Amino acid sequence: MEENRMTEAAPEERNVRSGIRNAEKRKEEKQDAVNAAVPESESPFQGRIDIKSLELPALKDLLAAFGEKPFRAEQIYEWLHQKKAESFDEMTNLSKPLREKLKESTFIMTLREAAKMESKLDGTCKYLFELYDERVIESVLMRYHHGNSVCISSQVGCRMGCRFCASTLGGLERNLTASEMLEQVYQIERLTGERVSNVVVMGTGEPLDNYENLTAFIRILSSEKGLHISQRNITVSTCGLVEKIERLADEKLTITLALSMHAPNDEVRRQLMPVANKYALKDVLAACDHYYQKTGRRLTFEYSLTHGVNDGTAQAKELASLLKGKNCHVNLIPVNPVRERAFTRPDGKNIQNFKNVLEKNQITVTIRREMGSDIDAACGQLRKRYMDTNKREGGE
Ligand code: SF4
Repeated sequence: MEENRMTEAAPEERNVRSGIRNAEKRKEEKQDAVNAAVPESESPFQGRIDIKSLELPALKDLLAAFGEKPFRAEQIYEWLHQKKAESFDEMTNLSKPLREKLKESTFIMTLREAAKMESKLDGTCKYLFELYDERVIESVLMRYHHGNSVCISSQVGCRMGCRFCASTLGGLERNLTASEMLEQVYQIERLTGERVSNVVVMGTGEPLDNYENLTAFIRILSSEKGLHISQRNITVSTCGLVEKIERLADEKLTITLALSMHAPNDEVRRQLMPVANKYALKDVLAACDHYYQKTGRRLTFEYSLTHGVNDGTAQAKELASLLKGKNCHVNLIPVNPVRERAFTRPDGKNIQNFKNVLEKNQITVTIRREMGSDIDAACGQLRKRYMDTNKREGGE
């Protein structure tokens, strides 16, 4: 998109703006993803930088443009990502003129809590957060013995079209910015007063379809001057975008990769996941092997069990032979029925049988513990219900 918003600026302002452009230069290759996330035409922040999405080097460039020392960038970064400040006025160790400059040239992304449901069974909380453009996303807080885990969304909607998933029914609306992904974690910490120790990117969206924003999010979330959540405690789930998995392997990140596998062969996988028409399972698994070789991180394979589709003994055996010898863990997920789709969950006997077959073949396997089963069950369903009952009027 042509840049046409920087006209008639005073010399000093021009200076600052050119510095801002330098800061943005580092993100040049990311521009497509960022534009897709916040289209200029829809953004109420026109011409201002999303400061919470900037990694520290880019923030230092920005502050250098203001004639400030690098330590100022570190202070601001800590305010944004450690203290989770929501306004520049909270940044009391910055001079007032600097705070004013920041307000003129940048903005702090925040999310508004639109709805919340809390499970009486296990304390799981599902949140609907409203974005600046009134779209809503879903995030989930799960409380485990070992700490709090948050499942975040990476996109508004999804274009991958998996047949068992409610999140894709309306297609992809837009990518989330790094700041919008971070805010889901920060907002849950603010709202609960509890620390989050694990983050899984398994909510709405295909994370690797929003690659630049995702990797910025991971680096900021795990940075020492941020929340400092260990990368080992961050899991990214993908339906299997081969080139992106290979690229991720080279990022020097130590996150866990979870492949949404859901079938032991291409034929069944194609029935469930349109992405299987583009990537053969053997290529997806080869990319996963590459990820393991590069990172040393044990792979996770997610397998949604759907009655009569992929839950038979023969399929369990086929899956076992495919994964034999890999350093991996299989997570069986009895599918949650989606009202709009005719899939049903297998009964307990079939689920246990499937697990037994894998175990007999020395594959580590767990059945995902269902969290928050008394509130809106499957991923994306709370959002969908909210959207159905709160239909927005078109346009302003
Ligand atoms: S399962 Fe994930 S990748 Fe597939 S449609 Fe749903 S959100 Fe998208």
